[in-house]
Amino acid sequence: MKKKAELYAGKAKSVYTTDDDDYLIIHFRNDTSAFDGEKIEQLDRKGMVNNKFTAFIMEKLEQAGVKTHHVKLLSDDEAVVKKLDMLPIECVVRNISAGSICRRLGVEEGMDLNPPTFEFFLKNDALHDPMLNDYHIRSFGWATDEEVEQMKTLTFQVNDILKKMFADAGMLLVDYKLEFGRFKGELLLGDEFSPDGCRLWDAETRKKLDKDRFRQGLGGVIEAYEEVGQRLGICFD
Ligand code: ADP
Ligand code: UDP
Repeated sequence: MKKKAELYAGKAKSVYTTDDDDYLIIHFRNDTSAFDGEKIEQLDRKGMVNNKFTAFIMEKLEQAGVKTHHVKLLSDDEAVVKKLDMLPIECVVRNISAGSICRRLGVEEGMDLNPPTFEFFLKNDALHDPMLNDYHIRSFGWATDEEVEQMKTLTFQVNDILKKMFADAGMLLVDYKLEFGRFKGELLLGDEFSPDGCRLWDAETRKKLDKDRFRQGLGGVIEAYEEVGQRLGICFD
């Protein structure tokens, strides 16, 4: 499969068209951003780590029956994916309180959320990704009623699969963000699943092993991502 034109460059990945209209190539760059793009740094190996991490997770999800955009790894930092018509929505499930829910609701970090919570956010950096409810999505036509229900069902299905997978490797899946898109009449999981878009803590020590290390200036960001990958059995070499 050949790369053609750059379709768009996001904060961490660039997306290219290919010689087949149904497929794209995603290039995972080393750029790391936080606070809606206000803090940006280059972190060595990050593109490669997140590309291989995402491919591993997408394959696990496919095996468990969740349909994704993933086709195959193309190189260390590139993957071939199905070209989706992305919904401008982020779906977040939280098993433990952290991040924006603590700021918004004034709750402490580290509370077990039983049952886990679900939130929709609008993908819009200029507006700082405001939270949405189902009615906003329907009234503004960002997704159909059926897609709203599918996004919730699929995001919780991913929780059941991945919470157990991380627990078996000694980690807590605190929260994560998913994005979905349309492909030939079906809703598929798109974008990525890596420690950039989820929170993972060591189950014993609660050491942060995700992008909060970058957001909070804790250091050892990629070392932590690689540790997570190694615990799952991902080979980065
Ligand atoms: P951001 O948009 O947050 O800056 P990225 O740097 O990750 O994010 O850019 C990747 C872009 O590619 C995002 O806008 C994402 O929605 C989009 N995307 C991810 N997967 C697909 C896909 N399979 N088809 C089309 N677009 C995709
Ligand atoms: N998240 C993401 N992209 C975003 C916003 C959130 O990947 O644009 C992820 C984030 O890494 C975390 C989860 O979604 O795992 C919940 O994020 P939160 O709402 O707590 O926002 P944050 O405080 O991380 O900005």
